Amino acid sequence: MSDSIALLHRLIRTVSDFPQPGIQFKDITPILADGEGFHAAVDLFVAEIQDTNVQKIVGIDARGFLFGAAVAYAMGIGFIPVRKKGKLPWKTQHYSYTLEYGTSTVEIHEDAVAPGEQVALVDDLLATGGTAAAAVNLVRQLGGEVVKAVFLIELDFLEGRKNLAGIPVTTFLQY
Ligand code: AMP
Repeated sequence: MSDSIALLHRLIRTVSDFPQPGIQFKDITPILADGEGFHAAVDLFVAEIQDTNVQKIVGIDARGFLFGAAVAYAMGIGFIPVRKKGKLPWKTQHYSYTLEYGTSTVEIHEDAVAPGEQVALVDDLLATGGTAAAAVNLVRQLGGEVVKAVFLIELDFLEGRKNLAGIPVTTFLQY
């Protein structure tokens, strides 16, 4: 295990039964609060994405914004938020899906991705993959292409990768 991964592993806090009984919630706020940890996390994302030709980072509401925006800044490229329904002010495309807990609808601004544009998806955690697949669908609805999906954490047992068939998926910590 690299030093960075070991540091991130130490910083992740598992909270039992949040937001509902049976869920082991992976709390990444201690990573954000630790300068070295946050830097290490962003560097890992950048190292994975910099060998692609992506023109934008697409981050998923809400923790995907925290890492995705930092990654986009570090790479000198744009950032696009995929948000929960009702938050984006301009014209949107939407997509509904099932979560590990509950259901949700996500939206993207319809001018956020240009036809033919390549993007990378960033989020904190891959669980069932429903959220990431919804984001991929939104990008495709706009004519864009997700060429890579990168997550800090993967919950292996939920097999979320199956929802992202055909897209290279990288995760740094698996549970
Ligand atoms: P999913 O669509 O099932 O892959 O869920 C992924 C989204 O829900 C991500 O944006 C995560 O932030 C959040 N999430 C799902 N399960 C957990 C968990 N056990 N701990 C922390 N976040 C989670």
